[in-house]
Amino acid sequence: AKQIIQDQMISSTLEKIKYKLFIMSGKGGVGKSSVCVNTAAALAKLGYKVGILDVDIHGPSVPRLLGLKGQLDGDSRGGLIQPKKYNENLYVVSMDSLLKDTDQAVLWRGPMKTNAIRQFISDVTWGELDFLLIDSPPGTGDEHMTVLKTIPDALCVVVTTPQELSLADVRKAVNFLQYAHANVLGVVENMSGLICPHCHKEIPLFKKGGGELLAEKYALPFLGAIPLDPTTVVSSDMGKPVVYLDEDSPAKDALLRIAKEI
Ligand code: ADP
Repeated sequence: AKQIIQDQMISSTLEKIKYKLFIMSGKGGVGKSSVCVNTAAALAKLGYKVGILDVDIHGPSVPRLLGLKGQLDGDSRGGLIQPKKYNENLYVVSMDSLLKDTDQAVLWRGPMKTNAIRQFISDVTWGELDFLLIDSPPGTGDEHMTVLKTIPDALCVVVTTPQELSLADVRKAVNFLQYAHANVLGVVENMSGLICPHCHKEIPLFKKGGGELLAEKYALPFLGAIPLDPTTVVSSDMGKPVVYLDEDSPAKDALLRIAKEI
């Protein structure tokens, strides 16, 4: 009965969320979390109500990227949890903010993770949202299976860099998604070239265009490319999404374009 009740709570939460975007990558370090947080912030800036759910239990980075600290507020009625508010349009829930002792989660096994992810949906008062973006650990593990099973209409966004190694990993991720019959919204190429801050010409530091070729090969939409941009690093250290910075930058432009494309 507990499971049935939770399934009902999950359905009623998901009914109120128009689009669920599942942000994935073949391997770590390609900027998946940055793309997730900045795309969410860009959508919020465009006026949509947006939530971010960080299901990366071992290394949640969303709160750090948004400069959020501390635990979530529980609701005294029925033990529901309120997401953390970043601004009027942007709300966040992560493992980090739920656990008293985050070091403990490192020892978690599959079923515990599955349970935690389901609770992130059933027990959180997300309310009416236009978009829920879900950040995941790199690769394809228990967390990904659980998200795809729990949210069957999730649209997957695959983040890659143009490098061959990252692309080999992302091919595995795409194969996994096809095997799981998941809906793929498209591919984003991050760290795609560098605009020289002095001459404003482009330097293809890690080559370019690999993400687009990959998208073509798998007949997936290509959602856009985000250049390497030192502003991204500065903004993540500040805990402020690059799209909320006052000054324009190549990454900010690209992310706002991608948000409009989505
Ligand atoms: P992942 O989630 O894939 O492990 P992160 O989002 O944590 O990757 O990003 C890894 C590092 O790369 C961070 O320091 C981040 O600031 C930096 N980064 C991400 N995207 C860009 C970019 N377009 N330009 C410059 N640095 C970036």
